[in-house]
Amino acid sequence: MTESKTNGLVCAHHHLYSALARGMPPPPATPTSFEEILRLIWWRLDTALDEEMIRASARLGALEALERGCTAIIDHHESPNAIEGSLSIIADACEEVGVRISCAYGVTDRHGPDGARRGLRENERFLKELQQRGSGAERAPEVEQAPQPRAPDPKGMVGVKGMVGVHAAFTCQPDTLAAAADIADAYNAGVHIHIAEGPPDANAAEVLAPLSKPNWLIIHGVLLPDDHGIKGTVVHNPRSNLNNSVGYAQPTRFSNPIALGTDGIGADMLEEFRLAYVCSRSADVTASPQTAWEWLITGEELFPEVRQDEVAWSYETMDPWHLAFTPGVSPIAVSVGGEVVYEHGAPTRVDGQEIRAHAEEQAKRLFDRLR
Ligand SMILES: [Zn+2]
Repeated sequence: MTESKTNGLVCAHHHLYSALARGMPPPPATPTSFEEILRLIWWRLDTALDEEMIRASARLGALEALERGCTAIIDHHESPNAIEGSLSIIADACEEVGVRISCAYGVTDRHGPDGARRGLRENERFLKELQQRGSGAERAPEVEQAPQPRAPDPKGMVGVKGMVGVHAAFTCQPDTLAAAADIADAYNAGVHIHIAEGPPDANAAEVLAPLSKPNWLIIHGVLLPDDHGIKGTVVHNPRSNLNNSVGYAQPTRFSNPIALGTDGIGADMLEEFRLAYVCSRSADVTASPQTAWEWLITGEELFPEVRQDEVAWSYETMDPWHLAFTPGVSPIAVSVGGEVVYEHGAPTRVDGQEIRAHAEEQAKRLFDRLR
């Protein structure tokens, strides 16, 4: 078989907690707007999550990322009834599978000021944990008793990072937004926040532009004005935007760097690239797949460690003009930091069937709560 190689791919915006959502019971009413999609689907789901479900969804999401050549996930988590420690559960699950992870807890005031405080505390707790274990906002290798001579501690191979998550300006009080920005500054971590995804958040730029820093992640930006003034990387999630009927973000109009995310619908970044290309083409017939490919590769600026990762693909050339029109290109082997974590159609660190069985069992528990 002819093959070619790339660095590991990056999903610049994910919600691993939504991995169990597929097949969930229908909402009590059919949502008719973006706000109703949040209220009737996602805010019911995240409220129902407990620690075991968080672990199961993170392991499944990490496994599915690896199976598609994605070796680094920038995650945005919310579980209002299981906040404390949730980011460590996600980080551990990803390390177990062998996928690099950046964790953030999506702070919000929609459960009152105490809920917001607890969310801020979880971000800070996790960043402090990373700082104590390593340097800066990165978690250093964990040492387990006596070091093994043949291989590094498997948990130590994979990078873990953190950011300060915020759900969105429209669900936060100004004090909460300022506190999140302060914590991010203190840990040099950046804020990971949904901005202007839909009508309720259309005016977010006014409050966020003065707080923003170049290390922020601006998720969606669909309704942002071209000259919004917010610093940071805009993360474009074309499948999610289509699925939520919020419109096309048209990222080429921004001066910010642009990266690609999935907003929780898996981590198949070649698929997201193809969709990003065809969406850009739908708005501009002169659009080139090269532009969408550059958005995908911006992920390497956000997670430079993926340059130490290697994906061998089932296709002879990883050229954007080929890939835009070639479905089904798949990884043959994936290595992270020199360790092979996926080959012969299976992960090497974990039992993929066990992860899927555990996810199915936890999804049943989740769906029972939603009924
Ligand atoms: Zn999102």
